[in-house]
Amino acid sequence: MHNIVWFRSDLRVYDNPALSAAMQSGSVVAVYLLAQNQWHQHSLSPAKRALIVAQIKTLSAQLDKLNVPLKVIAADGFNDFPDILSEQALKLGASRIYCNIEYELNEKRCAQAVSTQLKTVNVELVEFHDSCMIQPGQVRTKQGECYKVYSAFKREFIEQYGRFARPILNRPTQQSATGLASDLTVLEEVAVEHKWLELWPAGEDEAHDRLNTFVEGHIKEYDKKRDIPSIEGTSQISPYLAIGALSTTQCMHAALSLTEGRFDSGRSGVLVWINELIWREFYRHLLDEYPRLSMHKPFKLDTDRLPWKYDQALFNAWAEGRTGYPIVDAAMRQLSQTGWMHNRLRMITAMFLTKHLFIDWRLGEKYFMEQLVDGDLAANNGGWQWSASTGVDAVPYFRIFNPTRQSQRFDPNGDFIRRYLPELAALDSKSIHQPSAQQAKKAGYALPIVDHATAVAQTKLWFKQLSEPT
Ligand code: FAD
Repeated sequence: MHNIVWFRSDLRVYDNPALSAAMQSGSVVAVYLLAQNQWHQHSLSPAKRALIVAQIKTLSAQLDKLNVPLKVIAADGFNDFPDILSEQALKLGASRIYCNIEYELNEKRCAQAVSTQLKTVNVELVEFHDSCMIQPGQVRTKQGECYKVYSAFKREFIEQYGRFARPILNRPTQQSATGLASDLTVLEEVAVEHKWLELWPAGEDEAHDRLNTFVEGHIKEYDKKRDIPSIEGTSQISPYLAIGALSTTQCMHAALSLTEGRFDSGRSGVLVWINELIWREFYRHLLDEYPRLSMHKPFKLDTDRLPWKYDQALFNAWAEGRTGYPIVDAAMRQLSQTGWMHNRLRMITAMFLTKHLFIDWRLGEKYFMEQLVDGDLAANNGGWQWSASTGVDAVPYFRIFNPTRQSQRFDPNGDFIRRYLPELAALDSKSIHQPSAQQAKKAGYALPIVDHATAVAQTKLWFKQLSEPT
C-alpha cells in the first residue's frame, strides 16, 4: 500500500508541507495531472508551460533520490481530476492523498470535488497550507475582517508572524524502494520552445542559486536599485515562486537571516525586499477571501460602470510595442522577448493601457498571463487592479503616471530603451524618452497613438463621474 502526493504548483522537495507529511506517514507515490486544456483556459504562457515541463523532469530526478516514483497523467481539465485521483488511489491501495492548497477559485473547487469523490471510496484528501507564509484568514482586523489596506495588513502580518508563520521544512528522508517506476512520457505531448529554457532554466537548484546570489549581493542595494529596469536590481525569482520551485517561506527565511530575524532593523534593502514578499502574501489572502477576484470582477464593483473601451487596434499597438511612447514599447518588447517584465514597467504599461487608452484592465491582465513566465493570478490581478484603480488599496484614479517622466526618472540615459528599441539607439539621452516626429520618422518608429494630457483629463472625468450621484 502506498499513499499519494498530488503535486500542483509546488514542484519542489525542500520545504514542501504535503510531501513531508506524506513521507512521514508511510510509503509514497507522487502524481502530477497535466491538463493542457485547463492551462489554455487559464491563459498559461508558452514560457511558463516550458518551465513547468522542465521543472517536473528535475523534480522527478530529486524524487528518485528519495525513492518516490512520479507518474505524470494526462487529463483534459479539472473535471477529470476526481476520477483520475480516485482510480489511482484504488490502484495503489492508498487511504490518503496529500496535496498543498491552491487559493484560486477553480483550484479550490477542483480540490473540493476531488475530496468529495475520494470519500466515496474511503480515501481522504489531506490538504496543507503552503504558498502563503501565514494561512489566509489568520491575519485579520479586530473586527475579524480581511485587511483591505496593505500597510495595516503588513503591520498585523509582522505582529502575527512569530505565532502563525508555518515552519520551514527540510527535504524528507529517503524511503524504501517502492518497486514502481516513474513515468513522464505524457510530458512529451507538450510543445516546448527551447528558447524559454535557456532564459529560465528549471530546477530547485537553479531557484536556490538565484535566491542565494541575490541575498548575498543585490538585496543590500534593493531599495536603491529595484526601480531601475536597465540593471538587475531585483531577484528575478518570481517564475520559480509561481511554479513552486521555491516557497515564499524560504525567501522570507533567507531575508530574515540577514536581519537576525527582525522586521524592524537591518539594511533597508533587505527590509524593502521583505515588504515585497508581504505584498505577494497580501494579494493571496485577498484572493482566498474574495472569490470575485478569480471571476473577472473588480474589487470595487462600481468601477464596472466605467465606459472601458475595447479598441482592438489600440490594444494591438500596446501589446506589440507600437504606442510611440518608448518606455512603454520597450517594456512590452521585454515581455514578449523574455516572458518577464520589470515591476516598475508592469506598473507603467498597465497604467498606460487602462488610463491612457482606457482599455478594460481585464484584457491587459489576460495578455500578461499569456506572456508572463511568472503568471500568477493573485499577483497579476492585484497588480492590474492596483494600476486600474479598481482594486484594493489601489492607486488613486487621479494619480496617473506620465510615461515620459517615468522614463526620464527610471531610465535616465535610455539604456533600457536602447536595449529593446534598437531603432532609437542613436538618439541622445534626452530625446530618446520622447522622440520628435522627425526623429521618429527617420528611425521608422511610431508616433504617439494618444496625447498624454488629453487622455489623462478624459480618464479623470470618467472616474469622477462614477462618484457623482446618478
Ligand atoms: P523582486 O522585486 O525581487 O521581489 C521578490 C518577490 O516579491 C517577487 O518575486 C514576487 O513574488 C514578490 N513581489 C514583488 N513585487 C510584488 C508586487 N507588486 N505584488 C505582488 N508580489 C510582489 N508578480 C508575479 O509573480 N506574477 C504576476 O503575474 C505578476 N503580474 C503583475 C502585473 C502587474 C500589472 C503588476 C504591476 C505587478 C505584477 N506582479 C506579478 C508583481 C511584480 O511585478 C513581480 O512579482 C516582480 O516584478 C517579479 O520580479 P522579481 O522576482 O525580480 O521581484
